[in-house]
Amino acid sequence: MPLEPIDLHKAAILLDVDGTILDIAPTPHDVQVPETLRATLTQVSHRVGGALALVSGRPIGDLDFIFAPMRLAAVGGHGAEIRPTPNGGMFGQRATSLDRDMKRALAQIASRHECVGFEDKGYSVALHYRLALDQGLDVVDEVFRACKPFPPSSYELLTGKAVIEVKSPGFDKGTAVRELMTYPPFTGRMPVFIGDDTTDEAAFAVMPEFDGLAISVGRKVLGVSARFQTPHDVRQWLERLGTEVAAAS
Ligand SMILES: [Mg+2]
Repeated sequence: MPLEPIDLHKAAILLDVDGTILDIAPTPHDVQVPETLRATLTQVSHRVGGALALVSGRPIGDLDFIFAPMRLAAVGGHGAEIRPTPNGGMFGQRATSLDRDMKRALAQIASRHECVGFEDKGYSVALHYRLALDQGLDVVDEVFRACKPFPPSSYELLTGKAVIEVKSPGFDKGTAVRELMTYPPFTGRMPVFIGDDTTDEAAFAVMPEFDGLAISVGRKVLGVSARFQTPHDVRQWLERLGTEVAAAS
């Protein structure tokens, strides 16, 4: 699917991280940030007047850590955290923490399965089974059963690539992107959101409100404007975006 030219004077570039600009690793801690990607993101961010943000399920602190020493505007925790400028304050931390008993029950599931990773992000927890794909169905089933005794309005389940996540309700990448677009330097710009997973569809869904573009990676998603095959293709496109505009200005 051809991608129409992007006017960087008017665009905001919103990027999911894992599986979109970074190759998926065996565990979330193992991801590698190619050195050239830092330079590319810095350059593209400059070209769009700072209106480039990472939009991830990871907490913003985690994003800062893996991209260090670079910092970017970011949405973290599937929308629980919003930081419109790289060194500014965080907004949108209205998410409540998950029930402690629920967290304990979920942690026990991970401890029962060898090679299933447990990640506590405060307002959500994730069980990663990339290293134990044969146990994936059991893990998902046990998570559903562990959550069942709690009020349905107190949590949401998100399934992703070899991960199931339980999060506090009331926010997602879509609500967060809508809020991010109200802050400078994003206000009035046309968002281009790129994401690879089901959780990104909430952000795809709000793109029409801003005349924006939704672009998927790998998966075929109904209604998107374009699709990249791999994170490598996204990185190459970003590289071209930075250099073409640099050459033209
Ligand atoms: Mg992703």
